[in-house]
Amino acid sequence: SDEGQGGSDLDNINVVVRVRPLASHEVGKKDIQAVQFPGEGQIMVDDQINGHSRVYTFNVVFEPEASQEDVFEFSGLKRLVDMALDGFACTVLAYGQTGAGKTYTLTGPQGEGAGISHEPGVINLAFSYLYEGIKQRKSEDFVIHASYLEIYNEHVLDLLNPSPKHLPVRWSKDKGFYAENLFAVECEDEGDLQGVLEEGKKNRQVRSHNMNEHSSRSHTLLVLTLTAETRDLDDPHTFIRRQGKLSLVDLAGSEKTKKTNSKGETLVEANNINKSLLVLGNCISALADPRKRSGHIPYRDSCLTKLLAESLGGGGMALMIACVSPSRTNAPETISTLRYASRAK
Ligand code: ADP
Ligand code: MG
Repeated sequence: SDEGQGGSDLDNINVVVRVRPLASHEVGKKDIQAVQFPGEGQIMVDDQINGHSRVYTFNVVFEPEASQEDVFEFSGLKRLVDMALDGFACTVLAYGQTGAGKTYTLTGPQGEGAGISHEPGVINLAFSYLYEGIKQRKSEDFVIHASYLEIYNEHVLDLLNPSPKHLPVRWSKDKGFYAENLFAVECEDEGDLQGVLEEGKKNRQVRSHNMNEHSSRSHTLLVLTLTAETRDLDDPHTFIRRQGKLSLVDLAGSEKTKKTNSKGETLVEANNINKSLLVLGNCISALADPRKRSGHIPYRDSCLTKLLAESLGGGGMALMIACVSPSRTNAPETISTLRYASRAK
């Protein structure tokens, strides 16, 4: 098989699944593992509600023992970085219920020294790989810019600017959809990029301080634009420019949230989140279908898909990392995640 590529050459969307280990608090509560791995790329979930077990198949299924390096190496992510360097727009989406391992997979364990710890996430590993790639492409000069934003309740916030102002999403012929006044920081090396990531995480934590579930209910988008300049062989005074893009997205928790609280706020949040994940699912299932790909894709139906439109719909590739818990308690959400992810194949 071509596991290392995460799929065949024709696929523009690859889906991999990562199962995290049972957490110690789950083991403590005598929760048990409800998932099995019958074959390569396969995951079977014990479905107690429907009384049977179903097998789901994906490009790759990472078992609980898989390391961060394994996920980076075999998810196909390297290829997306290479394509972004070649001028394509590529997207990585971490999907799954809260606590399933999205943030861990992308940026490593939370807290002190996260990301530069001994378990750096695939984003951190991608940063190193990116600058390695640039070093090897000697005939081109690259300029990298990073922006980092959060979408919460259909509002866009700049994670690199502590101002609490919402950024309007606009559309222009040149740029497509974009968040107005979003900071873009030039990053000369890997250290600069790690700094951007840490800065954004810090701003996010400050903002979510008084809101318990804020972080599980928002999407974060780290977007790298890679501009390459090559000297024209016929005329050494002119430069040829091209721009690639890598969008790295930590999606809001996919779980069904409680309907309401005393002020009715939860209801509004749940609607927006479920709606944007629903719209995203509709967009990627249309993009994954060669017959629908050239037709209408409903990007305009949510802030998230507007901002990802160029990245998802261009000639590049998308990778969905569906994160799931192995526990029996979470089996219904695991099944719902695997169903969602199956639509994207
Ligand atoms: P999410 O972002 O999906 O809500 P997290 O990434 O925060 O979930 O993960 C929830 C908890 O599980 C965290 O304490 C995290 O460190 C831990 N965890 C997640 N995935 C793994 C893994 N593959 N190996 C070890 N611990 C993990
Ligand atoms: Mg998270």
